Amino acid sequence: MPLTAYSISHSGELDVEQTLHQLSAQFGVPYTSVDSIPEVWRDYLRIDLQCPSCFVTGAEVVRSTTKKTGKASRQSFFRFTTPGHKPHCDFGSPETANAIPENLVSLTESKSKLTRAVRELVCTGIEQGIFSQVSIRNMREWFFNTKVESLFVVTLDPQLYAWISVLRENTFLSSLGLPAGVALTPEIAALPQFDWRAEAARRVMERYPQHEANMKAITDQRIIGMFSPAGRRAEALTQRFQGRSVFDPTVLSDEYRKTCALADFIGRNYAPLKAARGNSGTESVLAFAALLLFIRDWDIGQAISDFVKIVAAVGRANQDLGNVMGLNPFHDYEAWRILKQLQGLNIAVPENIDIKAERMAMEAALRKQFGAPPMPV
Ligand SMILES: [Zn+2]
Repeated sequence: MPLTAYSISHSGELDVEQTLHQLSAQFGVPYTSVDSIPEVWRDYLRIDLQCPSCFVTGAEVVRSTTKKTGKASRQSFFRFTTPGHKPHCDFGSPETANAIPENLVSLTESKSKLTRAVRELVCTGIEQGIFSQVSIRNMREWFFNTKVESLFVVTLDPQLYAWISVLRENTFLSSLGLPAGVALTPEIAALPQFDWRAEAARRVMERYPQHEANMKAITDQRIIGMFSPAGRRAEALTQRFQGRSVFDPTVLSDEYRKTCALADFIGRNYAPLKAARGNSGTESVLAFAALLLFIRDWDIGQAISDFVKIVAAVGRANQDLGNVMGLNPFHDYEAWRILKQLQGLNIAVPENIDIKAERMAMEAALRKQFGAPPMPV
């Protein structure tokens, strides 16, 4: 459920409390609590507020739930039930209904030094007129439209990750053995240091030429990061979104490359960010870099000159200007890229093949055949 919504009349993002205070001033009526909102205010909110992700109207205010201790357990939020969110809205599914979507970056109060430094830059950028809450809203709308135009269905078998990992191990082991085309002779087998495991791996691989070709396709496609944390994240996303249509982030590869380059430049050339590098909050730097590029039609030279102007003016802006929900369109970008690339290879996971067990059986048989000592346990 959105904690903030975009007010058309105020050209900005407001939370429930801020909205009600604005209305109180606007209608000249004091406001006491979320429970006693006049009907005329409710009517007004239904046409004035837009969902921060899909931009439908029809907002309703939902009061924060209160625990027995009397302490509010949840901030008041907005609900959009009539006509309801558009398909693929970040707030539309029950799974995301009670959480802030992972690609939105709240720049309001944060414990992270990095996020606070970014908030300062955003406030200054708004105060200097380089961008506005309207630009931030327009960027989110651009992203939403890009997303719904480039969906694909996750059909990748989650078992593929484990299978590729096993294949990869065996391919590596076989590379330690005899070069291709060299036969194992009794003389070679008599070498005390002969690597029986590598020879077994090589022979097992020969049984499955199609899997060897699959492994080569993966290498040739250079699915970078497949065995990194992003690859493990891709595996989790494959399971979580199986059969569902999701955003294909690779349509934004050019924008992603520029955003990373700019975020890196900003991180190295602004002292408060440099000091906090490696800390949490890097998503907010990406969100800020993406915003600078978005307003300049992805021209990185112009984005850097805007950044320089902002840095020169830092320290004077009203901090309330930064009450916005930034967007990092590249959240989980690497994981989605890996998932999409792997799915494109159309590799089927074979049933009933246990490469490791076959390799061990093969090694035992080869040792026996050539009179070598049995496998060490
Ligand atoms: Zn929505």
